[in-house]
This record gives sequence, structure tokens and C-alpha cells, in this order.
Amino acid sequence: MKYWIKGGTVVSGSGSFPADILVADGKIKALKSPGQTGEWKTEAGEDCRTVDASGCLVFPGFIDAHTHFDLHVAGTVTADDFATGTRAAIKGGTTTIVDFATQYPGESLAEGLANWREKAEGKCSCDYGFHMSITEWTPQVSREVQDMMDAGVTSFKLYMTYDTQVDDKTIFQILRRLKEVGGITGVHCENSGLIAALQEEAKAAGRMGVGSHPVTRPAAAEAEAVGRLLRLAQIADTPVIVVHLTCREGMDVIRRARERGQKVYAETCPQYLLMDDSLYALPGMEGAKYVCAPPLRRPEDEAYLWQALAEGEIQTISTDHCSFTTAQKDLGREDFTKIPGGMPGVETRGILLYTYGVETGRIRPEDMCRLLAENPAKLYGMFPQKGILAPGSDGDIVVMRTGVSDVITASGQLQNVDYAPFEGWKTTARVEHVFLRGILVVQEGRVVREKQGRYIARGRYSL
Ligand SMILES: [Zn+2]
Repeated sequence: MKYWIKGGTVVSGSGSFPADILVADGKIKALKSPGQTGEWKTEAGEDCRTVDASGCLVFPGFIDAHTHFDLHVAGTVTADDFATGTRAAIKGGTTTIVDFATQYPGESLAEGLANWREKAEGKCSCDYGFHMSITEWTPQVSREVQDMMDAGVTSFKLYMTYDTQVDDKTIFQILRRLKEVGGITGVHCENSGLIAALQEEAKAAGRMGVGSHPVTRPAAAEAEAVGRLLRLAQIADTPVIVVHLTCREGMDVIRRARERGQKVYAETCPQYLLMDDSLYALPGMEGAKYVCAPPLRRPEDEAYLWQALAEGEIQTISTDHCSFTTAQKDLGREDFTKIPGGMPGVETRGILLYTYGVETGRIRPEDMCRLLAENPAKLYGMFPQKGILAPGSDGDIVVMRTGVSDVITASGQLQNVDYAPFEGWKTTARVEHVFLRGILVVQEGRVVREKQGRYIARGRYSL
């Protein structure tokens, strides 16, 4: 099937311009200025369907490089698996996700990757790849890093907290190894010792409620870990990615590392741009819906992150989608440390960023394109196959209608959760049509084709 996407404004990382797009055989065949209709007719041929994009912004398919589907956490498993999670993703304009395969204790990286490929195989409605979370470091695992690179798993994940954490020596050795093979790692930065001590104090004082969550994971714990990571990376002489950056303190540490010449990439998420820690003071278990790590910060941090985005200091916005139902959140009713951490978000990232970023003038459509598509494609080794609307690229396309008014509700979402963190929030954009490798998967806001996603073997980072 061929499509002629007609009348829209095509957005790239460097500019926006009126253009029609011809999609054929899964790829973008050509972009033409609207005046070139004559040539089109011959080129497109008989079996070409026209999709009206007039009045719409046309983006490259969004990439969400931070999702957790079908993940066992804290004695339970995330509410979204690869089927429900990726269906929600395409409805929101995300045509590629990069999830986290995890090496469990005693496992090889190959076993970890095989487990996750099995979880995803045949279920995904968008394209998918994996980062590899390394939790144990041995000479054998070090050798396997090259196998991962060869399998298209070219980015890794390290935790400085949780039971998956690796110590400083290990982080350093892994960074050295990644430099050798041309890989890169994202790191969850929080000081685990400080958090453990603060949690003990809170519990000893009987402060077991949700309100203890942000208090025991302060911005200082994040900033300290970011600083430590960046000093390790300085000596290892290799770039790193700080994932889900939340606060001014962390941003400032990154800025200082850049000033001394280091290459550091930063990711943030919509929740850190749009919500603050006052939500943890909501009555009962209401605040548990917003428990994630690092936690939501102060309104000043949100403003600081928006500023950093506008200035190009943050490269990507992912979601850290890690969904649990309110019943699962209730596991922590008596003890805040037992609340499963994370929230859904894969479905609403695009419309939120448009409404609260572009519409408010905080960022431009071109910034949004870079943050959601172009930069993650480059950073995670998928460019120019993905992340850009250009001849030869995959036909991953989002037709977004703007100037409409809508409201986010749990009842209207595909995410497999009984609440929406952004319940009641107004939006001014709608994801009208989505193409995945030239297949029309979302039509007029409804998912019309499922399970068309494929595993994407990725190359080396190039941002
Ligand atoms: Zn995460």
C-alpha cells in the first residue's frame, strides 16, 4: 500500500515546512512541496491512498527510549506488558520503544536478552529494541558486551540504587569496556546509602506514609550520584547518559562536567516537567499514584528543566513508563518503601509536550521533534532509519492535529491501568494518524492495526 500524506506541515529538528509525503514499501519515498502535484500523480500510481493532513503537524514517529513493560518489581509485575504497552504507545504517536532487558543474578547477558525478546516477540504494536541492564560484572559478562553490540543491543543500563545496583568500581570497569566496543550506558543516579539511612530514620519515627517517599530520596541523593558517575566517566574517558534527570542540582552537576570538556547526555520525563512533590501530600493512598524514583521535585525544578530544554541542555524526553494499578500501589499502604515505583506515561507524552511545551511557547515544534524523535534515534543508533522524515527512512509518521481541545482520562486510555496520572489535564493536540513502516496503524485517533512491531537491531550512538 502506498500513501500520499497531503497538506501538512512537516517538522524536522531544524525547521518546519509545508510538504506532502509519499510512503511506499514501508519507506518514505519522497517529500514534495505542495505545488508539485502533477509529478505526484505519475509517481504514486493507481493504488495510492490519500491521507489528508491539512492543518496538521507531521512528525517523524516518536521514540520512547525508556519503558518498562512486563517487569517484575517489588513482588509484583507491571500492569502493562508488551501488548498493552506498545498499543498505548502507537496511539500516542510512539512508533519505537527501547525497553530494558535485565540480567538477573547468575544469568549471562545472552540469557537476559533472550528472556526479554521472548516477552516481546509477536506482541508489539510498535517497533522495539532493548537496552541491557547489567547487574553482575564478571570477565565472561565483559566478553559478552561485544555479543550484545553485535545483536543490536548497543546501549546499556546501570543502577546506582535498588537491588540491581552496581558499585563504583564496577561502573568504572563497565565504562572502560563500553569505550572499547563503542557502546554507551544510561545510568539511574541516586545515592543508595543515603536513601537507605533516611528510610530507616523515617520508619523508626513511625512515618510510614507516602509523604516519606520524597523526603527519603532528596535531590541531593540524585545530584551526588550524578556527580560521582560523571567523575568516573571522566577518568574512563567516555560519554554517559543520565536518565530521568529531575532537578536543578543534577542539571548543575552535568553542566560543570560539560564545562570541563565531558560529553554528557541527559534525559528527562514529562512527569518531572509537569508535576511536583505536593502530590505526595494527597490524602490516603492517592499520592502513591505518583510514587516513582527519583521522585517528583519542587515547582522550581520544573521551571529549571524547561529552561534547560529550551537551551538544548537536555537531549531526550522519555517516559520511564512503569505502570501499576491502584491495587498494586496499595501494597505499600502500611509502608511507603513497599509502594511499587513508577507510573504510566507512554500514551500521553506527545500531546502533553505539545500542549504544555509548544503551545505555551516554552519550546518550539522543532525542539519537540529533536527531543522525541531525532535525538533518541541518534543516541540509540537508529538514525537515519528512524527519527527523521526523509527519503529512504522508515515510514514512521505521526500526523498531529493541533488547536483541538481534549481532556486526559483513565477511561479513555489504552494503558492497562485504572488511573491516569494526568487525569483531567486539558490538551490541545490529538494524534490523528500514525504510520509504522508505511502501515497505517492509527486512523482518526483509533488503533486500527495491532502487532505490526518488529525488533530493531541498533547501531552505535551518533549524537
Ligand atoms: Zn526506568
